[in-house]
Amino acid sequence: MTTPSTGDILLITKIVERCNLDCTYCYMYHAADQSWRERPARLSNENLDRLTTRFTEHAQQYPKAGLTLELHGGEPLLLGKRRMQALLKRIRDALSPERLFICLQTNAVLLDEEWLDIFAQYEVHISLSCDGPPDVTNRYRRLRRDGGATGQSVEDAIRLCLRWPEADKLFHGVLAVADPQTDGAAIVRYFYALGVRSFDLLLPDANYISPPMHLPAYRHADLLRYMTRAFDEWISIQDTEFKIRTFRELILGMFGRKSALDAFGADLSTISVLESDGSYQLLDVLRICGEDATRTPLHIEQHSFADFLAATAGTLPKPCARCLTCAAFNACGGGYLPHRFDGVSYDNPSYFCDVLFGLHRHILTHLAKVTPPELWQTRGAATG
Ligand code: SF4
Repeated sequence: MTTPSTGDILLITKIVERCNLDCTYCYMYHAADQSWRERPARLSNENLDRLTTRFTEHAQQYPKAGLTLELHGGEPLLLGKRRMQALLKRIRDALSPERLFICLQTNAVLLDEEWLDIFAQYEVHISLSCDGPPDVTNRYRRLRRDGGATGQSVEDAIRLCLRWPEADKLFHGVLAVADPQTDGAAIVRYFYALGVRSFDLLLPDANYISPPMHLPAYRHADLLRYMTRAFDEWISIQDTEFKIRTFRELILGMFGRKSALDAFGADLSTISVLESDGSYQLLDVLRICGEDATRTPLHIEQHSFADFLAATAGTLPKPCARCLTCAAFNACGGGYLPHRFDGVSYDNPSYFCDVLFGLHRHILTHLAKVTPPELWQTRGAATG
């Protein structure tokens, strides 16, 4: 086995593998892989300690490596404030913010000022999950205990984050799942009016054997319309401080910069998921592909991060032949790996190819109107 030279790693850590929400489209609890039922509800104290030990060891082994710890779930705030503080103190005593970037993705239902104080104290960067105005979020993001609505409490949490003195530095905005039954333009306008200046529109998690589970009448044309209307609204706002990551990444790809986003074909082999039983697994959205799609034989007790990187380097599927000759490839990258699965292999364009290609063409048509043609010739950008 060869060890990658950079040592860069993103460790997505399932500190709690249960959730207070039961979102209809969740890849964790409603997908083919139901192995979460066999794993503990949260990472043990021993494995929480090993987390710090492994990061410290890796930082010494790779002094220049980019190290990121993403606190994830389930819902990570279910760890509780006392345990979270103890975990963060131990990690920060060993690794400064300059050495280790820590981020956290939350559904925001439990978020309050005390949580924000903790994140400020230990320099934890946070993002919230929210699909749009409360009536849109309420469609799929419901409380597990009684099916109650969450949209208003999430909107309140976004406002709280925007008022936070650390907002500029530590609040990274919102992740929304695109819902083709709504209007993409209205979603963009909602977040902008709320004061959010950074968010992303994720495509639903689906592939050729598991279409979007929460959308029985799903059609690519509807999702493409949602995305193009969202793009047009974003452009019409004319505020360069207002960032929608998907659109920015596609545009940068058209100008020749390969995306670092997993959704646009970036290398996933430096992403490890630490499950609540201490096992290292591959990117967790691969759970929509089947029971064994994410498994590795590695465990944090016996194996270092370098062992994981060495085991996965060069092993993940490459883009398919059709994508490699596609005019949109430089920006699209063949899409997200879990979306390429057909039940046997990943040797396919994304299940959302029609949406990605159509969106690429739509954005390119806009850019062609507002940029000099020489730019495209000199940059060799796609013109498909
Ligand atoms: S648009 Fe479709 S064919 Fe082209 S790179 Fe993306 S997934 Fe592949």
